[in-house]
Amino acid sequence: MHEPNETNLALAANLIKKGELVAFPTETVYGLGANGLDAKACQKIYQAKGRPSDNPLILHVADKAMAKTLVASLPPEAEKLMDTFWPGALTLVLKKADHIPLVVSAGLDTVALRCPDNPIALALIQASGVPLAAPSANKSTRPSPTKASHVATDFGEDDIFILDGGDCTIGVESTILDLSVNPPVILRPGGVSKEALEKVIGEVGIYTSKTPEVPKAPGMKYRHYAPHMPVYLVAENQFEPLLNQLKTTEKTGFIFSEEKLARLKIHFSKGVFLSLGQKAELEIATQRLYRHLREADSLDLEVIYLESYPKEGLGLALMNRIDKLSSPYIVKEEEA
Ligand code: AMP
Ligand code: MG
Repeated sequence: MHEPNETNLALAANLIKKGELVAFPTETVYGLGANGLDAKACQKIYQAKGRPSDNPLILHVADKAMAKTLVASLPPEAEKLMDTFWPGALTLVLKKADHIPLVVSAGLDTVALRCPDNPIALALIQASGVPLAAPSANKSTRPSPTKASHVATDFGEDDIFILDGGDCTIGVESTILDLSVNPPVILRPGGVSKEALEKVIGEVGIYTSKTPEVPKAPGMKYRHYAPHMPVYLVAENQFEPLLNQLKTTEKTGFIFSEEKLARLKIHFSKGVFLSLGQKAELEIATQRLYRHLREADSLDLEVIYLESYPKEGLGLALMNRIDKLSSPYIVKEEEA
């Protein structure tokens, strides 16, 4: 792992220019970057991650001016959103310019663009002089990395140049808004909420598999973010039954808010207790979720129980990830 000083940023930018991969921090999660205009370099991302080829890549840009060079046209709503939320955790899907390689868009006529709010990421894009295609820097289906060491765990420190920018401040992936349809549709909830978007451009939809105007968003069908052991999501009304019914071992993991952990610790003498912060502090929960899932892996836990959050604001993004990696905890009748 490399300190993000001037020398290492120059080395990293040279690797990008030569068509190699570089892992770098963003405010959401660590990215595995390649020159987004070089089809061969982007192909390496799919190989390294084991990513299905129909799952398109997001291009990371330094600013609105760079974004303009990558789209067929820039609608006024896109410009307003860029002015309001960039740099930040908002990815915009727009009609692509002809020179974007098809490997980036997975064959679609659109491209996803984001300007990350992280000085190291921005410096790397600027020094490279090209947009960086960068999905999360994890092996496919593994939890996204929120620290440089997570990237090293998945890829091996010797095989990939990793810029170490410390912990990611947001910890879950960006909001993706498809602006190529009318009204625009959120394909993936993230750090920027539906309400915040609507204040700027009016009505916005949320993608479901029934949304007719949107071609089924590639990538959304894949299993994501999963640690190695079963994960059970404990609904609010299942918490008391859990306390009464569960037998724990040293290999039982709990990922809960401070409030719930306090009760779990009184009840169970054995277990690993990982905190998502105070229940009301959703920014802390999103920051820590992936880190705790990876911790559970490295401790080789046998099972994880995870808290459920209301699907509002940032809670929508948090629960979107949690729903994909867990199954509901349901107490059997005779045991309840
Ligand atoms: P990530 O794996 O976090 O980098 O996010 C990439 C995701 O962005 C993909 O899985 C798609 O769901 C979405 N995406 C990227 N490009 C497009 C596009 N052109 N159209 C629709 N969705 C896209
Ligand atoms: Mg990912």
